[in-house]
Amino acid sequence: MSTEHFDICVIGAGPGGYVAALKAAQMGARTAVIEQGNLGGTCLNFGCIPSKALLSSAELLHSVQNARKWGVTVGGEIGFDWSEITQHKNKILRQLRGGIASLFKGRKVTHLAGRGRFERAGRIVVTPGEGAPQTVTADKVIIASGSVPMRIPGWPTDPAMVCTSDEAVHWTSLPQRLLIVGGGVIGCEFACMMQAFGVAVTVVEMLPNLLPTLDHDLGAALLAIFKGRGITCHLETKVEQIEVVSGGTVVRTQLSSGAALEFDRVLVATGRRPNTAELGLDAAGVQATRHGFVPVTDHLETNVAGHYCIGDANGRCMLAHAASAHGVVAVENALGHAKPFTAPIPSAVYTFPEVAAVGLTEQEAREQGLPIAIGRFPIGHLGKAMAARHPDGFVKMIRHRETDQLLGAHMIGQNATECIAAATALLHKKASLHDVAETVWAHPTISEAIKESAEDALNMGLHLPPRKVIRAAVGG
Ligand code: FAD
Ligand code: NAD
Repeated sequence: MSTEHFDICVIGAGPGGYVAALKAAQMGARTAVIEQGNLGGTCLNFGCIPSKALLSSAELLHSVQNARKWGVTVGGEIGFDWSEITQHKNKILRQLRGGIASLFKGRKVTHLAGRGRFERAGRIVVTPGEGAPQTVTADKVIIASGSVPMRIPGWPTDPAMVCTSDEAVHWTSLPQRLLIVGGGVIGCEFACMMQAFGVAVTVVEMLPNLLPTLDHDLGAALLAIFKGRGITCHLETKVEQIEVVSGGTVVRTQLSSGAALEFDRVLVATGRRPNTAELGLDAAGVQATRHGFVPVTDHLETNVAGHYCIGDANGRCMLAHAASAHGVVAVENALGHAKPFTAPIPSAVYTFPEVAAVGLTEQEAREQGLPIAIGRFPIGHLGKAMAARHPDGFVKMIRHRETDQLLGAHMIGQNATECIAAATALLHKKASLHDVAETVWAHPTISEAIKESAEDALNMGLHLPPRKVIRAAVGG
């Protein structure tokens, strides 16, 4: 078996691994990246990009269906061409994969196609789909093997009827009645998308809120919007049982509420698990949790010196931009810097309206016993939102009452996923709420609501009625 040595070897070419490989090569390291599938990982092939391609058509369709609201009349039947929509999606996926391949070429990153498995620390066997295996040794290794969808044990596995997002982003036809198990990020994005395409959607979420990991006010606002569009949501409810009946054409489900419902298809969106079981971590001495996540230090290093783990596989944050940001910091550390990863990571949910957040939620801040003040501003009060007829949503800011520091920003509304960038930069720079309020925001924009809610948190808002100040009696 041939053996080749590299300064840095990256396992996995998702947004974590491919960015790490480019960074390593940019810093002058001789770099290899091992990938068993298509370049781009979950994000490009089964996640962020295909789902957003489908969502963009869904959102346009939703707007056209509601065009009268804007005084626009659309003649004839309003419809969509699923085949064209999926062709566009597949085309951009090919383009972006090609883009990564040329970036690798440009920076002389060696791409090894095949499955990587540790033989021992610093030594990995790469087994391609066809052809002979080869061995790679490296001074430093970056594990970027990502995650895969969770399935519920005991449920039917027919991927045409009981699907995960891996199948759903590549559906060639749409169901009439869809059950989505899980009201998290995938569940909400697909519910919004599928309803616009005319599918009757039911979401079942076992916790009391949609998007339960975000500030609870966001999930509550999205629930009201979903209900208004006819999306059925069962909260605090579990799907107890699923069976495929009627010769494989109908899925019968039993809910914990006692309801028995039938659907044409089910999307299981109950979270993802790390893709580390086949890496041979034991052979390298790399420790993992019971669920397979690889714990890392603040420098993203595993328990084995010189072995780093980034992105979904380390369980810190399952987002593409987190994986890429980890990749850069892990490489810098591998090549001699001592840089902890401290940057705040924004979340962006591509429902319409969009949802976005960064920093502590109100619930987290209260659990930590922090003295907080909350600022809120309804987006519908903004001239831009009124003019553009997108009045739904709000911005909510969390302020540390004693230090005045910005702790978190949470928003739902048009362009929220773009507006959150400003709040993220301010949080990263440890801005105070006065800093946010004193920043000049372009008019008319939706981002003005960030300034307005900061002013509200300081009790200084000009575009809201004066707050009633309740003074606590001190010392009787
Ligand atoms: P991955 O992208 O999972 O890449 C890991 C790569 O490693 C894979 O290509 C895999 O084939 C390879 N690999 C694994 N084991 C081996 C091995 N032994 N040998 C060789 N190769 C191996 N995040 C966002 O930030 N924004 C979004 O809008 C968004 N939308 C999403 C929508 C959906 C439907 C899904 C499922 C996810 C979405 N995500 C989104 C999450 C995002 O896709 C992940 O957080 C991100 O892809 C994680 O990057 P990663 O590099 O850690 O792992
Ligand atoms: P998630 O953790 O966001 O949501 C899963 C939901 O399923 C949770 O709310 C959970 O309470 C619920 N659930 C679990 N078991 C259940 C059951 N038996 N019955 C009913 N509800 C149940 O996970 P996801 O939506 O699968 O997404 C996976 C990952 O992909 C997330 O970490 C997310 O960050 C990432 N992602 C990100 C984006 C984005 O950034 N826009 C989009 C899609 C996915």
